Amino acid sequence: MNWKSELKFNVTTIEELQNYLDLNSKEKKLLKKVVKRHPMSISKHYLSLIDFEDPKDPIRKMIVPSVNELDLTGSYDTSDEKGNTKFIGLQHKYSQTALILSTHRCASYCRFCFRKRMVGVSSKEIFHNLEKAKKYINDHKEINNVLVTGGDPLMLSTKVIENFLNGFTKIEHLDFIRFGTKVPVFLPQRILEDSELLSVLKKYSKRKQIYFVLQIDHPKEMTKELQAAVKKLLLSGIILNNQTVLMKDINDKPDVLAELQNKLVKIGVNPYYVFQCRPVKRVKQYFQIPLYKGYQIVEKAKAMMNGHSKRFRYVISHKTGKIEILGIINNEIYFKYHQAKDARNEGRIFKRNLNKTAGWLDELR
Ligand code: SF4
Repeated sequence: MNWKSELKFNVTTIEELQNYLDLNSKEKKLLKKVVKRHPMSISKHYLSLIDFEDPKDPIRKMIVPSVNELDLTGSYDTSDEKGNTKFIGLQHKYSQTALILSTHRCASYCRFCFRKRMVGVSSKEIFHNLEKAKKYINDHKEINNVLVTGGDPLMLSTKVIENFLNGFTKIEHLDFIRFGTKVPVFLPQRILEDSELLSVLKKYSKRKQIYFVLQIDHPKEMTKELQAAVKKLLLSGIILNNQTVLMKDINDKPDVLAELQNKLVKIGVNPYYVFQCRPVKRVKQYFQIPLYKGYQIVEKAKAMMNGHSKRFRYVISHKTGKIEILGIINNEIYFKYHQAKDARNEGRIFKRNLNKTAGWLDELR
């Protein structure tokens, strides 16, 4: 079966979910309300990783809708993506990077998605003019890389992916092209059974370096299928980086976080970022842990890692930039701009009074 047919078997309704979970009529009603606003979609591969006997199963929490998503604390645009949008689907926040929202679809829908406002919901913000993007990048010589993201760009046909690669690899001042994807986790068949995709990646990675930025959040996601997909991508010349979202009851134990980062290195994936979970509506209360606690977890986890495994930075992806959580001394928490929207902030170190319950920079004085 090809990957597109495979997707037709995704679990998308509460009725289908009932084959796996006991739900009373009140729960059913509330969950229907949740998925009406933010659709559910779970690939059969990902579903097979859930232990439904365990109500605390981390995969289940990441992918199965919950009544906790009815909490509206937070925002739908925590990083001011609207403010960085130059035209539909193209964002330019950091001078060297152009970001493209290539699709609003994913192979499954994470309940903690920070683009919940659009992913699986609306194509209004999606890019549809490659020529315009090429012109914008050509006119901005300071851009040295393009991040194709979404949604998940690997949901696009191989032909469309090739169009992107063909267009962008011809722009001389681009050094590399990135694709942000969770497809190897949700639907490894897309990589394992599509030799056409692999040959396209191989062809264009000879012209310019291609990076995949994966999102692996828990060791349970590192199945033998994922590992096989990683191997194929590496053999096609792709460099693989990983970003992990630090989340309550998913990976907020030092040993789990350390196991994840150590296993990534073992299979040839570079730890890149550990993200503080954003204060997104329907996500913040359910998934976010306080910065204070996050810092302790990350530091304890780092004590169980070698230098390679702890190359990542623990950061807040804030509207003003990517801000690294450097440390806590007495009652103060120290930060450093790793990437700044305003060049004057580049590398700036600053501190805030510690508040042990704060989950985001704006909650600190
Ligand atoms: S794969 Fe990424 S874009 Fe898609 S739902 Fe998950 S977090 Fe959102």
